[in-house]
Amino acid sequence: MFPRVILNGTMIKKSQQKKITSPCNYKERFFVLDTQELMYSECRPGKKPVLKGCIRLCSIECVEIVFTDLPIPCSFKYPFQVFHDNHFLYIFAPDNDCRLSLKKATSWNPRCRELHGALQKTVIALQNYTPLTNKELALQKDKVYTLVDTFHPDWWKVQDKMGNTGLVPSTHVIENSGNNFERFEWYSKNMTREEAEDILIKEAKEGAFMVRNSRQTGVYTVSVFTKASSSNREKNPGVKHYQIRQTKTGEPTFYLAEKYLFHSIPELIHYHQHNAAGLITRLRHPVTQAGGCSQAIAGPSQDEWEVDPEELDFGQEVGRGQFGLVLQGRWREKKVALKIIKQECMSNEEFKEEARIMMRLCHSKLVQLYGVCTQRSPMCLVLEFMDNGCLSDYLRNKKGALSQNAMLEMCLNVSEGMAYLEMSNFIHRDLAARNCLVSKEYVVKLSDFGMTRYVLDDQYTSSLCSKFPVKWSAPEVIRYCKFSSKSDIWSFGVLMWEVYTEGRIPYENRTNAEVVESLNAGMRLLKPKLAPESVSMLMEWCWKEKPVDRPSFALLLHELSSLSYL
Ligand code: ADP
Repeated sequence: MFPRVILNGTMIKKSQQKKITSPCNYKERFFVLDTQELMYSECRPGKKPVLKGCIRLCSIECVEIVFTDLPIPCSFKYPFQVFHDNHFLYIFAPDNDCRLSLKKATSWNPRCRELHGALQKTVIALQNYTPLTNKELALQKDKVYTLVDTFHPDWWKVQDKMGNTGLVPSTHVIENSGNNFERFEWYSKNMTREEAEDILIKEAKEGAFMVRNSRQTGVYTVSVFTKASSSNREKNPGVKHYQIRQTKTGEPTFYLAEKYLFHSIPELIHYHQHNAAGLITRLRHPVTQAGGCSQAIAGPSQDEWEVDPEELDFGQEVGRGQFGLVLQGRWREKKVALKIIKQECMSNEEFKEEARIMMRLCHSKLVQLYGVCTQRSPMCLVLEFMDNGCLSDYLRNKKGALSQNAMLEMCLNVSEGMAYLEMSNFIHRDLAARNCLVSKEYVVKLSDFGMTRYVLDDQYTSSLCSKFPVKWSAPEVIRYCKFSSKSDIWSFGVLMWEVYTEGRIPYENRTNAEVVESLNAGMRLLKPKLAPESVSMLMEWCWKEKPVDRPSFALLLHELSSLSYL
């Protein structure tokens, strides 16, 4: 049968950023949807259209409307995304009718579950969550919420049954869809029965488990290890295999040992992680494809932030800072940075309390704090490892080799992290290139946020003393120690200056006192030679005398993003 054209028209497609440093861009494409494929082509006046992409409809798993608060960077204001072959195609339609008709037109595809169901996806809370700011929403374990926006990878916007919306950590919820579970650590798609047994027996932990594809297509099996004796007739008595079954009719359909029915496999697994309910043991430790238990579900009594010293391997030194040594290390199969805190440097008790809050801050542009090890002395912080070290050194090392795009991307990364801190009502207090780190993929992330409050060295904390970062501080901080997101904005202006001077020290040959004097006289840092006019205007905006005249990070992020579309 020949394909029949259903719809065609011009839409805007977001680039699928192949390199992490490449700026996002948006291209006009001519889309054609027929009964078999969705194709898009580049059309230049006077030239033949060039086919740029073609997606078979049978490989589309989901077409969903995107709800976003972020500014939409083009005149086509109706975004939606098409999930296919493990990729997202992000498209902006010119109007809502066009967006809806595209969604409808693809809906005959039986694999495309989302199209048959309600427009809105739902999620289930895996644990309770207490909001830290008024932008967040409380979660109650096992309750269902409507998913409003997943634009941000770490913070999803959800709505409760009362109609209240807010952000919640994406790690605290699971999508409530039938077979969308590739992202779960317990899923080892292509593992055979024998391989699963080998891995689980090697792990030898009560309740270690994985979910794998059964030999029968479309069927899934849960393999679980137990020390409890079971039938000797089995080849490997330590491992039990349970098929996930489905009722023929009705909803919910999935069940395991007994007929506790669930709408989706993630829900079913989540339930059995807490209840044996007919299984030989409850599913305690998800085992990953490569082997090795990932973090067990924390029981209510377990301190989520306390790291067991037995689980830490200390490696070589990678740096030294004001708090002490930083070592490379390993924790739970992960390469981590271990920051050993000199006892005389920090007030322990207060910091431990704060570490709880800092651990809840998670964002792709923040160096993640995994936990704190307080049972050994000196205490140490377990942090995400950042292969390319601190931003100020990185800039100096790359002097002359940084493109305009790379510099803008660095500022964008930092402003994204800062917009998140601002939204979380968290003040950084010491934003500077030396306190940002660069990942293996060259993403710049914020580190040491909020830490200055725990420094006991008053040379550092008093604005009159030598170690106080005067050159990065807003006038109201220097005068009255008045920290706010707007004083962070000032420091961000200085950080942009550091980026565009490739790591120079601001006010290079001047003392702190001279800097204060020149700021009081209304003088500011000079425009870096490499900074385009648009960027230098943003710096000046950050350095307005009155905090209210400075932009918020949300606004600055918007401005910087629009520069990267140019
Ligand atoms: P402090 O905050 O105590 O002054 P820093 O955070 O500046 O210490 O760390 C000192 C150095 O250690 C950094 O310049 C960097 O080279 C290295 N370092 C710190 N944290 C990490 C990390 N998470 N990953 C890799 N290296 C790190």
